[in-house]
Order: sequence, then C-alpha cells, then structure tokens
Amino acid sequence: MTQKELKSLTDFRRKLHQYPELSHEEKGTAKMVKDFFQALDPAKKFENLGGHGIAFQFDGKEAGPTTMIRCELDGLPIEDLSESKHASKNDGKSHTCGHDGHMAIVAGVGVHLFQHPPEKGKVVLLFQPAEETGEGAEKVINDKTYQDFKPDYAFALHNLPGYPENQVVIKKGSFAAASTGMIIKLTGKTSHAAHPEDGISPSLAMSTLMVGLPLLPESMKNFALTTVVHAQLGKRAFGTAPGDATIMATLRSHDNETLADLRSYSEALVHKVAEENKLKAEISYTESFAATENSEEAYKLVKEAAKRLKLKTKNIRLPFRWSEDFGHFSKETKTALFGLGAGKKQPQLHEPTYDFPDEIIGTGVGIFIETLKEFHY
Ligand SMILES: [Zn+2]
Ligand SMILES: [Zn+2]
Repeated sequence: MTQKELKSLTDFRRKLHQYPELSHEEKGTAKMVKDFFQALDPAKKFENLGGHGIAFQFDGKEAGPTTMIRCELDGLPIEDLSESKHASKNDGKSHTCGHDGHMAIVAGVGVHLFQHPPEKGKVVLLFQPAEETGEGAEKVINDKTYQDFKPDYAFALHNLPGYPENQVVIKKGSFAAASTGMIIKLTGKTSHAAHPEDGISPSLAMSTLMVGLPLLPESMKNFALTTVVHAQLGKRAFGTAPGDATIMATLRSHDNETLADLRSYSEALVHKVAEENKLKAEISYTESFAATENSEEAYKLVKEAAKRLKLKTKNIRLPFRWSEDFGHFSKETKTALFGLGAGKKQPQLHEPTYDFPDEIIGTGVGIFIETLKEFHY
C-alpha cells in the first residue's frame, strides 16, 4: 500500500466512524461501502444480503477456489465518548467494536484486487450486517443469493485491544466461544401485598435460579459460564405481591456441544424450580452465536502468511470467551478467524471511548492479501 492509499483508507474509516448504525439498520453504511467500491470495478456485486449486507466479487481468468473475506457493517447502541474529531454524529450510537476499521481493511483488499485482479478462482469481499446481535451471518447464509458465491474458504479478523499493535493472534480449532441469551419468564399469580398467601409469588424461585444457574457450569468437564445479566420481579407497586418474574442470562462455552449441554441442564433446573414453586415457566433464546472453529487448513494459510510478512504472531492456547457470529460460516466452510492487536493501552471493545487505531489498517490489508496468494496468484 502506498501512503496515499493508506490515507484514503484512514479517511474512509473515520467517515464510517462518524455515522455508525445499529444491527439491521446499516443502510447508510452499506451505501458508503458501495460508493467506495464504485471505482474498483468488481466483476459482480450482491446487495441486500440477509438485510443490508453487500458483497463484491473479483474473478480470475483461470478456474480455482472461491475465497471470501468478511467484515461487519454494524455499530453499537453505546454513546461515543471519545472526543475525537471524527467522533460519532449519530446520538447514542458508536463503532466501539472497531467494525469501521475492519471495513476499511477489507476496502483496502478491494483496492489491491482492482490493481491486481486474481489470476485463479474468485475472491468475494463480504460486508455482513447485524454481527453484534449474532443474526447477520446466518441471515446471509440463508439468503438464496449466497449460493451464487458460496466460498470454499472464508477469513475474517477482529481487532484486539490489550494485544501489541499489529500482532497477529491465531489459534487452531475453536477461536471464539459459543454463546446464547436465555430469557426465563416465570408466571404465578398476583395478590394484595397484605395477603401474599392468596397469590403465587415467583420471588423465591427467581432468587434460587439467580444463584443456581451460574453454579451449573461447575459440574461440567469443559469450560462453560453462565452470567445473569438482568432480572425483574413484578412491578413497582407497594400494594401488590408480584405474580411474574423475568431472568435473563448469557450462557457460553468454547464449543457447540458443551453449550447444548449447558442449555439442557439450565432448562431442567428452571422447570424443576418452577414446578416446586407452582409456577409456569417459559424459556426463549436470543442472540445465539455458534463457536468459531478454525479449520486446520485455513489456520495454516493465515499462519504462513504472517510468517512470510515477518509479523509478530501469538498462538493462543485457549479460545476467547467472547463470541463472533463468523462461527456460522465455520459450520458451512473452511474458515479462519484471527486477531489483530490494536495496542496494549487501548480501552476494551464496547467501551464508550474505543476508537479503532488507524495504525493497524495496513497490516490488516497486508495479511489478507498475503493469505490470498496461495490460491489466487
Ligand atoms: Zn462487538
Ligand atoms: Zn466486533
């Protein structure tokens, strides 16, 4: 990348940073991406993928595999407190997960593909919607247009504050956790606060579950974690004994099988406690992320690319506890998700002052391009 090209990617990143949009609402962001690619002459363009997703395909002259590079369009419902010149202009919304930086990197890959079209196979650059809610990847996969460019390999990176700038963080097998949001509704019967014995209050069941659910992982062999994230009992009415309660918890583990086990143990506990307290229990799930599994082959491609570029590389032993909906692609194709260090002193992801460091854009572009060399040049 020339200095001029890097400058244009930095400008693009900062523009995206100023106009973050929430999951499922990324219309303006998709338009900005589309405008950027206007000059890059892709062979094909796919719009409205699983919502506002957009992808660009670059074709080689010879036959070969299809490789997809994926980034995310969405921001977060967090106020931007960074005070930078390019701080968010959209109230209560921010790019505090650094998806603006991921988009700038993949745009940089687009610039390279325009200048050096692949010789073999196809390269698809996907700007995926709704990653933060865990829905976008699955929606793209279920969009029938996906079959037109279904990849043989897929790669993505996530910036990692807390790791040295430009360090490549890799791992074979599971890279990021599987997780799901569990919503438990308990229903009993309200009564006058003077006569709680006439009603069925869920307060005891609720507190039993708030203590009991997070203890379940202790008896499990593999890593699992349950965090109660929200709970509500009845309404703020001093004359009424409560008749309903809601508990929300996030369940996570390093692999899909362990998460399935944790889910069924949790459900069993909920039903047991509800029955003992004569309550009706309803369970639903939201924001479900599959574990991101790096295939041996795709992992090696990234590892060797980093080596050829002489980048500092860290092979981590345990998967990350956070989840990434790239895991849905892992179930479909050979994938590798890797981390790119964003600097040790940076605030963590989703903190209100987080601002993706422009200094790592060049490395991100470089490693994707180098990874493409195996099949496409
Ligand atoms: Zn995030
Ligand atoms: Zn993210």
